[in-house]
Amino acid sequence: MKTNYLPEGKVKKNYLCSLFGHRFIETKKVNTHFSEFECEVCKMQATNDSRGHKIKLTSKLKDINETLFYLQLKKEFIARFYFTKKE
Ligand SMILES: [Zn+2]
Repeated sequence: MKTNYLPEGKVKKNYLCSLFGHRFIETKKVNTHFSEFECEVCKMQATNDSRGHKIKLTSKLKDINETLFYLQLKKEFIARFYFTKKE
């Protein structure tokens, strides 16, 4: 017989988060404005919007962050090798 319930631990953790809010830790810095976060309790992934509010990290947002991350890398690369400071 198939049972259709969520694992108890998962429910408990999500319950804690809904009560006290997620405990986000920064997992990846995209650029100076955007970062990716993960809740250390329920492992929910989030990112921040342009106003600094935390929003759920969807696959679409993940793609955007990935693009921003590589643009940032490219920018840093160019800045380092093509516009070196003259002292
Ligand atoms: Zn959480």
